[in-house]
Amino acid sequence: MSDFEDLEAEWGFATQAIRAGQVRSTEQEHSDPIFATSSFIFTSAAEAAARFSEEEPGNIYSRFTNPTVRTFEQRLARMEGAEACVATSSGMSAILSACFGIMKTGDHIVSSRSIFGTTTMLFTKFMAKLGIETTFVDLSNLDGWQQAIQKNTKILFLETPSNPLTELVDISAVAEIAHQHDCLLMVDNCLATPVLQQPLKMGADIIIHSATKYIDGQGRCMGGAVLGREEIVGTDIYGFLRSAGPTMSAFNAWVFLKGLETLNIRMQAHSVAALELAKWLEHQPQVSQVFYPGLESHSQHALAKSQMNNFGGLLSFELKGGKDAGWKLIDATEICSITANLGDIKTTITHPASTTHGRLTLEQRQQSGIADGLIRVAVGLEDIEDLKKDLALGM
Ligand SMILES: *Cc1c(COP(=O)(O)O)cnc(C)c1O
Repeated sequence: MSDFEDLEAEWGFATQAIRAGQVRSTEQEHSDPIFATSSFIFTSAAEAAARFSEEEPGNIYSRFTNPTVRTFEQRLARMEGAEACVATSSGMSAILSACFGIMKTGDHIVSSRSIFGTTTMLFTKFMAKLGIETTFVDLSNLDGWQQAIQKNTKILFLETPSNPLTELVDISAVAEIAHQHDCLLMVDNCLATPVLQQPLKMGADIIIHSATKYIDGQGRCMGGAVLGREEIVGTDIYGFLRSAGPTMSAFNAWVFLKGLETLNIRMQAHSVAALELAKWLEHQPQVSQVFYPGLESHSQHALAKSQMNNFGGLLSFELKGGKDAGWKLIDATEICSITANLGDIKTTITHPASTTHGRLTLEQRQQSGIADGLIRVAVGLEDIEDLKKDLALGM
């Protein structure tokens, strides 16, 4: 490890988010350069041979390593407190790469039921095709996690807080269950980001990110990352990525680097705005329940306070009038964007029962708590009074 890297480890979180991983070129640029190159040249045939045989470190080809992407990986690794990070082309390819890197046919996954819809699809349709089965459990029920573990279980997978109902689980408790059975705990930390929650410090083994969301923060690029110990992420997961190819582009890495530089202040601002909107929603007569971990009324508020630094930008609420009231409210908005994306400085609004959870049967939706009158808002950074007026238009 170089002296420079030792120095970075001493920096505070905000300094790491702004400066970690940067290596200036001979041009002495201030902002990070975009290395838009697919391959790298060698000074001699002997150097080429040494690079290919891995006797000598260095760039060969951007599917393996790229300097802009590496800066992003090192910066995010600092922020999560991880030894290693590999960047990927999307959040889904991060999950795919982690699964392929760690598991083989006959292995088993125990996953929270309340995960991103496409992750459920990846597990049940595609991992199952390779002979890797998944058992789904309720996120916050620790006995359920314990009981679902089999002899061949390799991974426990979860998101906390969940989307859209903001349910939590005690990460260190699930990590303990995982380790009792020689399993790895994989946490999708996309919603919280390392600003609000650092699961590796609570015992998780692997972190997944969709950089598409808050890390970008302005809805421009697709990307993802896998983080964890060097012996897992730096070898098997990196090895899969290098062979299979879902790598992050240098341009996207550069956009995400700019995103990381402002992630700290954005997540704090999203949290302030979401809490204010959640409190306001609790006073609206048309609203029967508000789901936001920062509210005193949230059943896991104490856990949220102990495990998270702040409560994030995502909330949901249930309207008494069911689906008709939900669609009316969405259609009446003039500022909120009607889109299922989240993590943007522009506020987005969704009706989960007919979009993100529309493929579930009514029974499955009821089991997951996705009521017909449920509305999800990913609170952006517009003026909060404008957002209140916008939501009041259709109530
Ligand atoms: C969006 C999302 C993903 C998938 O990421 P993509 O970048 O869209 O592939 C995974 N997990 C969570 C929690 C997400 O919100």
